[in-house]
Amino acid sequence: MSNDNWVCFECRYSKRQNKMRKDIPKCVFCKRELYNIGYKVKIPKKIDLKGWLNIKKTSFERDRKYLEQKIVQDVKRRHEIEKEIVRIGKLNDNKENRRKIND
Ligand SMILES: [Zn+2]
Repeated sequence: MSNDNWVCFECRYSKRQNKMRKDIPKCVFCKRELYNIGYKVKIPKKIDLKGWLNIKKTSFERDRKYLEQKIVQDVKRRHEIEKEIVRIGKLNDNKENRRKIND
């Protein structure tokens, strides 16, 4: 069974939860939704403020990079689909033309 670490950066609270679960766990202190930081990141001790600041920074940075890559991939995919639509449109035009010639 694989678990992810979920954290509240403000309360410095962490909880492990199975990856397959779809619900977002909440902080027992402030009741806000916890933030998923994956399973690799080591959770700092509660008194380690620098450690918590650090995992917050690195987690946000990692997720920002991931989202940027995803946006780039989505744009590339959209361009491919648009090209395909144009190509299919041209095929249909050719069929129409052939039909006109044959009639
Ligand atoms: Zn909290």
